[in-house]
Amino acid sequence: MTTSGLPVPFLDLKQINAHYREELIAACTRVIDSGWYIAGEELVAFEQEFATYCGVQHCIGVANGLDALTLTLRAWKTLGRLKEGDEVLVPANTYIASILAITENRLVPVLTEPDPRTLNVDPERIEAAVTGRTRAIVPVHLYGRLADMPAIMEIASRRGLLVLEDAAQAHGAGRDGRRAGSWGDAAGFSFYPGKNLGALGDAGAVVTNNTELADRLRALRNYGSHEKYHHDFQGVNSRLDEIQAAMLRVKLRHLDEDIRLRRRVAKAYLDGIACPDIVLPRLADEEWDAHVWHLFVVQSEHRDLLQSHLERSGIGSLIHYPVAPHRQTAYSGYWNEPLPVTEALHRNVLSLPIGPSIGAREIDAVVAACNCFIA
Ligand SMILES: *Cc1c(COP(=O)(O)O)cnc(C)c1O
Repeated sequence: MTTSGLPVPFLDLKQINAHYREELIAACTRVIDSGWYIAGEELVAFEQEFATYCGVQHCIGVANGLDALTLTLRAWKTLGRLKEGDEVLVPANTYIASILAITENRLVPVLTEPDPRTLNVDPERIEAAVTGRTRAIVPVHLYGRLADMPAIMEIASRRGLLVLEDAAQAHGAGRDGRRAGSWGDAAGFSFYPGKNLGALGDAGAVVTNNTELADRLRALRNYGSHEKYHHDFQGVNSRLDEIQAAMLRVKLRHLDEDIRLRRRVAKAYLDGIACPDIVLPRLADEEWDAHVWHLFVVQSEHRDLLQSHLERSGIGSLIHYPVAPHRQTAYSGYWNEPLPVTEALHRNVLSLPIGPSIGAREIDAVVAACNCFIA
């Protein structure tokens, strides 16, 4: 499936970053001229600014979103909060990273089916999946929509479970004035270039209000060291470098405006697309704060036909995700239970172009192409 070279590409990162070109170049120049490229002032400043944005005390920059999740679970193991073989509940329809972080730590991922209305974890199914060996929940704010955190936190506190939010797609999503990342015991963010807050390379972060966890993560990301050449833990090298921290500081200043622009595209699609073969995401009026539209995902029983129809109309689209984690070769033989909701989703979902730089003419083209789709 082509996504570039079309009149309406699925995502145009060049156009998005061109908008901040002067500021990005100034920030990059500042780092080059500083002569300091790892673990310096830009990182400290970004960590403070992002912690403030999320409404938490600590932010720990790491190399990518997968490491943010993996290292948090690992930190909990070294702190005695988790141990090998503990069960961790995770949505079955997530991106593979949420699950890799669990198995990398020799914990046991227990897949739960999503709520078909929100496509996020279903608190009732979580409750039903808790066993005597369950120790943690990894809710994913899939496609940019905040999971039902009040219900999840209620279950977690009643059952004594840790909660690690996978907030890789949901920077800035909020509910009752509380943003993604501030609900759980910790949250992992990705700043992969295509994410809503995207670096110009790989980057990630953990946010938390727990000082002990933050402290442990600062060591683990840096060779297990708090003090140069003294190693308390068998850590890794997973650092967010100065250039990326400087890029992220620029883009964080514009994040709320970018989210506003994404919501404008989503609203136009929701108001404009009316095709019996396309199921739109459903969102009540009071839920708009909770969704930052990392992806605008529609469903169709004729998804592949819809995708080729859109391509013929010059519109890029992608499938998030074509293969469910439990169907991946990497996990063959790992799970055997049927997951019908998840499997239907992977057959039916299609992501339409969305982003802060999409103009009115492009929105109209997408709406018009969807509305003349006949399966
Ligand atoms: C992107 C993503 C990640 C991983 O982030 P990387 O920075 O690519 O490692 C984890 N979970 C979800 C849900 C994601 O979308």
